[in-house]
Amino acid sequence: VQNEYLRLQEEKESNARAYPRHFPLVIGRAKGMMVTDTEGRTYYDCLAGAGTLALGHNHEVVVEAIRDVLEQQIPLHTLDLATPLKLTFMEEMFSILPEEIRNSSKIQFCGPTGADAVEAAIKLVKSATQGRSILAFQGGYHGSTQATMAMSGNLSKKEHLQSLLPDVHFLPFPYEYRCPFGMGGDMTAKLSAQYIENLLDDCENGIAAPCGVIVETVQGEGGAIPADLEWLRELRRITAERGIPLIIDEVQTGIGRTGRMFSFEHAGIVPDVIVCSKAVGGSLPMSLVIYKEELDVWPPGAHTGTFRGNQLAMAAGLATLRYIREQDVLNNVQERSEQFMTWLGALKDRFAAIGDVRGRGLMIGVEMVDTAGRKDRLGHYPPHGALAAAIQRSCFNNGLIVEVGGRRSAVIRFLPPLTITEREAADVLAIFEKSVAEALA
Ligand code: PMP
Repeated sequence: VQNEYLRLQEEKESNARAYPRHFPLVIGRAKGMMVTDTEGRTYYDCLAGAGTLALGHNHEVVVEAIRDVLEQQIPLHTLDLATPLKLTFMEEMFSILPEEIRNSSKIQFCGPTGADAVEAAIKLVKSATQGRSILAFQGGYHGSTQATMAMSGNLSKKEHLQSLLPDVHFLPFPYEYRCPFGMGGDMTAKLSAQYIENLLDDCENGIAAPCGVIVETVQGEGGAIPADLEWLRELRRITAERGIPLIIDEVQTGIGRTGRMFSFEHAGIVPDVIVCSKAVGGSLPMSLVIYKEELDVWPPGAHTGTFRGNQLAMAAGLATLRYIREQDVLNNVQERSEQFMTWLGALKDRFAAIGDVRGRGLMIGVEMVDTAGRKDRLGHYPPHGALAAAIQRSCFNNGLIVEVGGRRSAVIRFLPPLTITEREAADVLAIFEKSVAEALA
C-alpha cells in the first residue's frame, strides 16, 4: 500500500516538495513525538512540522479544544469577525507579551502562513515610516513568497529568479563559527553591530532611511544559528536611536521554542513588530503580527485576506499557550536543551566531522564539515552537505526524522516537540550517535 501511495506522489506532486522527496514515508498516525507509517514502522519526529508542533502530534489538550469547537457549533470560518473564542485567544496572546508592550500593542491576524505575516509586517512598517528599503540578514529565512524570498539571505535559492524586490539590503549576521569578517569569538557580534551602525550613518549608501530591520534571533532554516544576546541589544539600540522599526520574526523561535515564550526575551529587548506563526496555531495554520500602537496606521480594510481568524487554530493555539504556561513547559525546554547540548558536545569531541554544535532551547544544529577540505581563516573545515544528507538518511533508517539546513544543507537540525521527555531525548540522541557512526564508517 505504501509503495502505491509513494508512486502516486512521485508521479503527480511537484518535485518542489521537500522532505518527502528524499524519504519513502507515508504517515498513517502520529502521537506525541512519534509518527507511524502505513506499514506500522515508527519514527521519532524531530522535525515536528518544522517547529510547529509545540506539544507534539495530537496532544490531548489540542484535540479536546478542537472537538469543543465542533461540538459547540462555533463557526469555523468568520473572516475576522469577533467570537468569544477569538477574544479569549487575543487576551491570552497579550498576557504573554512583555509588560512594556502588553497594554500598548495591536494585533493583526494574517493569512494562514508565516510568510503572510512577514509580508504584513513589511507592508505595515512601509506604510508607517514611508521608508523604502528593508534591511535583512545574510542566511536569514522569512518565507517562499516574492517579498519574503526577497528578504531571505539564501541567495542561491533565488539566483534564477533574478531580482524580486530591489530594495532589500543584507547585513552580516553574527554567525560566529563562519564569521563573515573572518574573526570569530566575540569579535563577530561586535563587528556586525559596528558595521550596521556605520552603514546606517553613511549617507552615500542609499539605505539611510529604511522602513525596518527584520531579524530572527536564532536563524532556523539558516542552520540553527543563535544571535549573540549583546548583539541583539545593540541592534535594538541602533534601530531605536534612528527611529527604525525592528521586526523580530518569531515564526520559528516563538511560543516557547527557545525556552522563553518569545525568543527576544533572552536579550531583554522589546521589538516594534513581532511576527508569529507555526506553533501559535497549536499545529493548525494561523499567523499574526503584534505591533506597537504607534505603528497602527492602517485604515480599515488596508490589510485584508479571506482566511484570517481560523477558529479551530485559535482553539488549538489557546490550548497550547495555556498548556505551556500551566505545565511549565519552558522549564522542560531548557532542561532538554542542556541534555541535547551536553550529549552532542561530547559527540563533537569524538568526531572531527562535527564542526559545530549550537542552538538555543530546542532549536539545535550540528554542522557537519569536510575534514578533507581546506580550512578557512578560523581553522574550520568547509560545510559538508553530502555527509549531513548521509547522516539524515541513516537517522531515517534507524527511526529518527531530522531536517537539514544552513549553508550547503550541512547542518542537521533538531526541532523536537517542546514536551519531549528525558527518555525520548536520550533515545533520539542514541539513534543520532549510531547514525553518525554509520555514515562515517
Ligand atoms: N519565518 C521563519 C523564521 C521561518 O522559519 C519560516 C518557515 N520555516 C517562515 C518565516 C515562513 O513560514 P511559512 O512556511 O509558514 O510561510
